[in-house]
Amino acid sequence: MKLGIVGGTAFEDPGALLDGTQSQTFTIGDGPVIFYTGTLAGTAIETIYVQRHGTDHGLPPHRVPYGPHAVLMRDLGVDAVLGTAICGSLREELPPGSVVIPDQVVDLTGRRGPQDVRAQWLHLPFGEPYCPQLRACAAAVEPANATGFAAAGCIATIGGPRFASRAEARWLAAQEWDLVNMTQATEAYAFRQAELCYLCIAFVTDYAYGLDFSDDAAIDTSMGKTLEMFRSILRTGPHHLVRVGQALTTRSLDSEEPASCRCQRPMPAEYYKEASA
Ligand SMILES: [Zn+2]
Repeated sequence: MKLGIVGGTAFEDPGALLDGTQSQTFTIGDGPVIFYTGTLAGTAIETIYVQRHGTDHGLPPHRVPYGPHAVLMRDLGVDAVLGTAICGSLREELPPGSVVIPDQVVDLTGRRGPQDVRAQWLHLPFGEPYCPQLRACAAAVEPANATGFAAAGCIATIGGPRFASRAEARWLAAQEWDLVNMTQATEAYAFRQAELCYLCIAFVTDYAYGLDFSDDAAIDTSMGKTLEMFRSILRTGPHHLVRVGQALTTRSLDSEEPASCRCQRPMPAEYYKEASA
């Protein structure tokens, strides 16, 4: 049994999550991608980690190799993947410092893909973008020091790399979605195509631009608060991620019970169609 971690912004130090780290370099396109192998910090859980945005945070959201990450995780024998997401909040009830286990995504990236996970395309069921079994395990792990905690929520995924305009943020909030981010719809789709169970832990750093319910006009102040929150996540986030990883592996993946999710089941034949090209 192996756990996979996709470390997003604020979770880009493998040493904070893994013990005994070793690295292996793969080539994706014309660039190197490093996968780190070790055990989840303080445990014996075999874990493979990749930085979503590459070395030195060099890849913006629209250039992250979501598909190859999923394929490599699968080929390296990973059973379940835990991804992190730094998000803006669209709801006053989820203030900066909240932790959310999202259950839904809305893809506003303009069909970013990825298209390179499978040799054949398919009409993919995506009613549950995140593994419900992993979500149930993670919901039992209440984060320490969080200002809010929600075991469900919808992430609107925008293309980025710019943030939403004030009008866009207000429109997103008016849809009654909960969070906004730039990676989640694409990444969840990549891992579903790879037939791997995938879970996201979302960390709220701020309200989406123009939605600061406490101080609507003070943008400079908000940026300062965001940086402060970011530093807080750097300090406390890895510990929470390790606790969730332990919960996933001890309560779910080691169970003799069959998986209650459909993430890893082969798709019915009627969903497949030969690529015409
Ligand atoms: Zn699953």
